[in-house]
Amino acid sequence: MTDKSPLPKLRVATTSLAGCFGCHMSFLDIDEHLLELVEIIQFDRSPLTDIKHCGPCDIGLIEGGVCNAENVHVLREFRANCRTLIAVGACAINGGLPAQRNHLDLGECLQQVYVGREGLEDGRVPDDPELPLLLDKVHPIHEIVRVDYFIPGCPPSGQAIWKFLTDLIGGRTPRLVHPLLRFD
Ligand code: SF4
Repeated sequence: MTDKSPLPKLRVATTSLAGCFGCHMSFLDIDEHLLELVEIIQFDRSPLTDIKHCGPCDIGLIEGGVCNAENVHVLREFRANCRTLIAVGACAINGGLPAQRNHLDLGECLQQVYVGREGLEDGRVPDDPELPLLLDKVHPIHEIVRVDYFIPGCPPSGQAIWKFLTDLIGGRTPRLVHPLLRFD
């Protein structure tokens, strides 16, 4: 007798580190394919769920680079729990726009932003212990953990993300070619 029980769904987690959520918006741009996707995957930690910590997953998608101590913690948690880790977008791959601050002195930068500016109440750099500690530089995620795949673009298109995921889930080596593969 053939076993008709459905295959267990793949678990997929997503997060944004130092990013703008544009890559997540692109993910949502796969539109009606989302309905196909939720037939075969289940979301773990993601802005699309209210799950706070990443559990054991098949695929982790990371948007954004690493700019503070909390980003490092979340990224390591994803790497420890996700069988396949994917860097999505320019910020995760090379630091992107947030890394523009890397040629500036962080202390001077904070002074410029917070001290002596009109409209700021106490004119000092915020130092609440709840705030994650900033790193001197913004790092691409592969400088912190091993990364299995990279999807370039700022953001990559919804079609590119869909093609990449369906290749991966289908057991094929993910392959993007122009115009899906682009770096802007
Ligand atoms: Fe936003 Fe572009 Fe960075 Fe994605 S790659 S998080 S769209 S700035």
